[in-house]
Amino acid sequence: MGRLICLSNRIPTGANPSGGLVVALGDVLTETGGIWIGTSGEIAKRPGTKLREIEGGPFKRLCFDLTEQEQENYYAGYSNSVLWPLFHGRADLMEIHQEYLSSYKQVNRRLAKMVAAMIEPEDRIWVHDFHLLPLAYELRVLGIQNLIGFFLHTPFPGPTSMQALPNGREICQWLANYDLIGLQAERDVRACLASMVEIGGASDLGNGFVHLSPRQSRIAAFPIGIDAREFTELAEREIEKLPPGILKPERRLVIGVDRLDYSKGVPQRFRAFGEFLERHEDWHRFVSLLQISPPTREGVQAYDDIREETEHLSGRINGQFADIQWAPIRFINRPVPREVLAGLYRASDVALVTPLMDGMNLVAKEFVAAQDPRDPGVLILSQFAGAAEQMTEALLVNPHDTEQMATTMITALMMSHSERRERHAALMKGLDRHDVHWWSNAFLTSLG
Ligand code: ADP
Repeated sequence: MGRLICLSNRIPTGANPSGGLVVALGDVLTETGGIWIGTSGEIAKRPGTKLREIEGGPFKRLCFDLTEQEQENYYAGYSNSVLWPLFHGRADLMEIHQEYLSSYKQVNRRLAKMVAAMIEPEDRIWVHDFHLLPLAYELRVLGIQNLIGFFLHTPFPGPTSMQALPNGREICQWLANYDLIGLQAERDVRACLASMVEIGGASDLGNGFVHLSPRQSRIAAFPIGIDAREFTELAEREIEKLPPGILKPERRLVIGVDRLDYSKGVPQRFRAFGEFLERHEDWHRFVSLLQISPPTREGVQAYDDIREETEHLSGRINGQFADIQWAPIRFINRPVPREVLAGLYRASDVALVTPLMDGMNLVAKEFVAAQDPRDPGVLILSQFAGAAEQMTEALLVNPHDTEQMATTMITALMMSHSERRERHAALMKGLDRHDVHWWSNAFLTSLG
């Protein structure tokens, strides 16, 4: 069997790269002598046309540099200001510019050339995420006939959304060059099939197969998981190390952890928490919401807007309800080390994971894995997270329904010990069965 060649926008850097995807793919890459290829994160004067190796690490890594313009047009532009909003149901936030699209195509074409130059006939290629949609197409143009799989970490838009994109048809045609298109949820499989047929002009062959000359592709769901056991152990260790003063015996802790992104529903969450406080004066001083949201993609207008909106809302709610001993919302705008997060999850009574749209949402899975099974916290999960298809024992909510969210917060805070344990045990079983190793194995087995 040939090597596995993984491609993603950013290469995992550092001597000991960590993170979910690295754990998942690291083993396979190490076993097959595989290679991970992506951008270096460094900005160069000229577009990088040669892959260079990053020294060290358990598997081989090759990277290339972007220019400042490419960073703006391919990455911040087409990837983050066109595809990201479109794929998260926010076509209204798309910024359509010709130079974004041409840079996006150029970077993918250049990468395809570099990959084609080093590929061997038996290698399998696994492309990750929306930054690299055209890669298989560009490789096929160069005559590469290897098996190529694609996994999209975000949701996939249905035909109605896809129509909002001037080159929606082209995107579907790019995808038809993959042998396997992996998505997070069944909802995305349905949307992708419909878009491929209605917008891309493919024929539906049934059982997730589509045909667009000259190739047949399979579309299927492979919900990504986490290394649940590892995360449980981390949380067990780390809760002991939390700085004093974070936990108060008389106070229940509700936690939210998300990049500050408009898809995560943080304003809706704050409003619902405000509604809950409005209705339940008896809970004042006995509960607080810790929302940890590091800013991302700064400089993109929609991200500056969401930051302002959430700061304003948390300020208003604190202004309305806080007293000298208690502020209802603690809003932290910086990243927190993974191990501290693990400890905080375990120390929390409730997690609010309420995105308006999310491919999977790993925070939901990490929160569950971090709990003490003898006295677990309760997960409130948006029905619009891909995770909701698997995690049906969570309290599922519609994040647009403020009243329902407020009511569900009470349900979570008052839930009996036995019901908490039952729900947690069921959720944990799912996390164990469908962990991150299952995910990469399932995808690669299906790719062939
Ligand atoms: P997304 O990939 O859209 O950011 P996910 O929930 O799928 O959303 O994954 C987010 C990952 O980033 C999780 O592993 C989570 O632990 C981590 N993360 C989220 N917020 C923070 C934060 N404030 N500090 C550090 N890590 C975070």
